[in-house]
Amino acid sequence: MSTLEQSRHLATEIPGPKSSALIGRKDAAVAHGVGNTMPVYASRAGGGIVEDVDGNRLIDLGSGIAVTTVGNASPRVVEAVSAQAADFTHTCFMVTPYEGYVAVCEHLNRLTPVAGEKRSALFNSGSEAVENAVKIARAYTRKQAVVSFDHAYHGRTNLTMALTAKSMPYKHGFGPFAPEVYRAPLSYPFRDAEFGKELATDGELAARRALTVIEKQVGADNLAAVIIEPIQGEGGFIVPAEGFLPTLLRWCRDNGVVFIADEVQTGFARTGAMFACEHEGIDPDLIVTAKGIADGLPLSAVTGRAEIMDAPHVGGLGGTYGGNPLACAAALATIETIEADGMVERARQIEALMKERLGRMQADDDRIGDVRGRGAMIAVELVKSGTLEPDAELTKKVLGDAHQNGVIALSCGTFGNVLRFLPPLAISDDLLNEGLDVIAGALAKF
Ligand SMILES: *Cc1c(COP(=O)(O)O)cnc(C)c1O
Repeated sequence: MSTLEQSRHLATEIPGPKSSALIGRKDAAVAHGVGNTMPVYASRAGGGIVEDVDGNRLIDLGSGIAVTTVGNASPRVVEAVSAQAADFTHTCFMVTPYEGYVAVCEHLNRLTPVAGEKRSALFNSGSEAVENAVKIARAYTRKQAVVSFDHAYHGRTNLTMALTAKSMPYKHGFGPFAPEVYRAPLSYPFRDAEFGKELATDGELAARRALTVIEKQVGADNLAAVIIEPIQGEGGFIVPAEGFLPTLLRWCRDNGVVFIADEVQTGFARTGAMFACEHEGIDPDLIVTAKGIADGLPLSAVTGRAEIMDAPHVGGLGGTYGGNPLACAAALATIETIEADGMVERARQIEALMKERLGRMQADDDRIGDVRGRGAMIAVELVKSGTLEPDAELTKKVLGDAHQNGVIALSCGTFGNVLRFLPPLAISDDLLNEGLDVIAGALAKF
């Protein structure tokens, strides 16, 4: 295969004729509940580029939603998966185990910021891993309730829909949801400012607000686990005020409640640390990973303190495909690439570049309410000029224009007014700058 040229190139209108034909076939064949962000069909991807079936080359500021962190079809991953596919594609780890699964667990135990002796278990999707983390916490504590937070996103299965905050599109019409799930207020500095400067900057105060709700509406004696994304993903790349997460963790430790960090989106170098919990200096009891773990092959994991992880009975955890050998080979190659190529540092460089650039844009444009995030997980919250009022319409227009001009970018946030940037760490500075030029150009049009 020839190497993919690292430049933006528009060969046709977006979508071109081949993509348009595929859109027609999709509409006739694929359930309409499955939507697409981009109106183009991919043919190849790598570095900072996705090429479509009409020969358009798009700048990738999405990484397939924070998945292809080391770069799409990353060379070590391609080689490892090809070799594994030639040897065997599946035996089921619960039937005839294989080394790759064990090796991935060893790396997870080595890399995750959980204290003491650790164990891991592998699954297929982020949602499935979150469900298993809750099962493990319930088996360990022999309690049932679970607390998640405002703006949280934990997946689309029944239990994880209950944990997820936003109704449309994730939950609307799909109830009833799993019981014994309760919601607490988050620390959301940009929006908490409305309720006073102290709440926006004092994470301990914001945590006490949440803990009052938890103590009064649930009670520690009933509570198995608190689950939280250290930086919220779909909810709007919300970085809680300093002190929020450590205060929650301390309360969990004091009250026999399992603290679960959902690092599905933030994990594996994405935020300029191997895991986002490291920025807060916290050691969760359980940590859930997926997305960036295996460069796009379906894999997820729960890693945690051995005494908690070993609580379920033998045979209580598992699944036909969990820790599939191809996905494990991909994960081992992904971890090797992150470490050998200095990708944690690369994420920090991307943060510096993006925040400097977006910060300058914000200084000239009072519709940019907030620029936030860490590493290569950076967001811009758009508002009506100089207010806190979310501007979802502007967000949609900016993204539509970016897509027409060959940049893949996504939105997020409860109010649909957050531009989120998740470039692969393999992207060049030139492509990143050009991608931001297109975003700036789009903002200037509306
Ligand atoms: C994407 C995501 C999930 C769900 O993962 P799936 O693989 O889509 O099931 C869970 N938690 C967070 C924080 C996520 O970003």
